[in-house]
Amino acid sequence: MRFTFTPAQDAFRAEVRGFLRSEMEAGTFSPRCGDLFQTGSREFSRKMAERGWIGMTWPREHGGQGRPYVDKAILMEELFRVQAPIGYHFLADRQVGPALIHFGSKQQKEFFLPRIVRADEGVSFCLLFSEPNAGSDLAGVATTALRDGDEYIVNGQKVWTSRAHVADFGWLLARTDPDPSANRYRSVSEFIVDMKSPGITVRPIVNMAGESNFNEVFFEDVRVPAASLVGEENAGFKQIMAQMDYERAGLERLMQNYPLFEQLKQHVRDMDPSETPETLRAWARDQVAQLEIEYSVGRLLCYYTAWTIDQGKTPTAQAAMCKAFCTRYEQKVNDVASQILGPVCQIRRGDPWSPLRGDLAESLLWGPSYTLQGGSVEVLKNIVALRGLGLPRK
Ligand SMILES: Cc1cc2nc3c(=O)[nH]c(=O)nc-3n(C[C@H](O)[C@H](O)[C@H](O)COP(=O)(O)OP(=O)(O)OC[C@H]3O[C@@H](n4cnc5c(N)ncnc54)[C@H](O)[C@@H]3O)c2cc1C
Repeated sequence: MRFTFTPAQDAFRAEVRGFLRSEMEAGTFSPRCGDLFQTGSREFSRKMAERGWIGMTWPREHGGQGRPYVDKAILMEELFRVQAPIGYHFLADRQVGPALIHFGSKQQKEFFLPRIVRADEGVSFCLLFSEPNAGSDLAGVATTALRDGDEYIVNGQKVWTSRAHVADFGWLLARTDPDPSANRYRSVSEFIVDMKSPGITVRPIVNMAGESNFNEVFFEDVRVPAASLVGEENAGFKQIMAQMDYERAGLERLMQNYPLFEQLKQHVRDMDPSETPETLRAWARDQVAQLEIEYSVGRLLCYYTAWTIDQGKTPTAQAAMCKAFCTRYEQKVNDVASQILGPVCQIRRGDPWSPLRGDLAESLLWGPSYTLQGGSVEVLKNIVALRGLGLPRK
């Protein structure tokens, strides 16, 4: 067992940090809490692409660098540490590319993969999975894609689709066998849909932070070329479960509000003994130390999951464990920070009284979504129980 990074990995981390420092000094972005996907800049993605940092784990024949997932985890840790604006390529890099490599047709691979690794214009993606009555239970999707000659005709509604309002393509899960008696796990398929297709309506949903970053998406007789089917017809559920591991395994599930944690530690360091009773300072020290313990456990789980992928193993239970633990930790950062800071925690960014640069108020408003997006904690624990521990379903 080797429990350390190699010199090459340390050098890679230093290289990424150097790049990010120079970008921040140039004013490209500054660390701030909020929604990960909000901050997207194709220009920034292009600079990452030039360094080979998009698709870096993909095989070389698909335009990737063939590097291990642990290297990618190092890259992502540094990017999330400062909340770099990676929204343009993030979903395509994290799960669209790997899914295409596994299941895509030659034509799909040749068209999308090189464009994604170059961060070309016109290849940003959104994920069209969840529906009003199918979130955790994705096998229950009601949107249909029915074959009609060389096309499929799509009808239905998706919801909570992050970035649907800016994405060029959508990765769609739809029912291709509408027979109600069909096996629900063998009657859905995956498609790549051009978001500008006639019949698609994207309607923003305003969340409680006042932002509209996710959407409702309506499909009305949308014609999708048959060549847009990814993998086998009616095998979409099996395919999507494999993709979910990539969605759940990453450090983004630990570090969505990392700048807040950094500021909280500094706040506790700076607590003035002449103004703050020792009992409060002692309690704050204890709480922040507990957070540090949990952050370290979460970080180890993430790297362990990356290492598991590098061993060629399927990380379903590890990825579920990782996301379930890490997102609860992130919410705890919000809880502890608001208890230490008190009612001013609610003052939003931009107000002179807003503490911790306004990151706390933003993080509190985004916090409830951490344990839902990409699979709720309850559902993830079911996966750990069934797939990880082999416990009985009933
Ligand atoms: C910020 C944000 C961004 C999102 N972005 C996207 C996106 O881009 N694309 C997309 O497709 N979706 C997206 N989603 C949707 C997300 O994937 C779903 O919210 C999630 O899968 C849960 O589904 P649901 O909301 O329908 O809740 P439900 O599935 O209805 O669950 C409701 C509650 O019941 C519990 N529950 C459900 N089933 C079980 C079970 N079997 N055992 C125990 N408890 C259970 C859940 O834990 C939850 O607490 C996003 C969500 C958020 C919050």
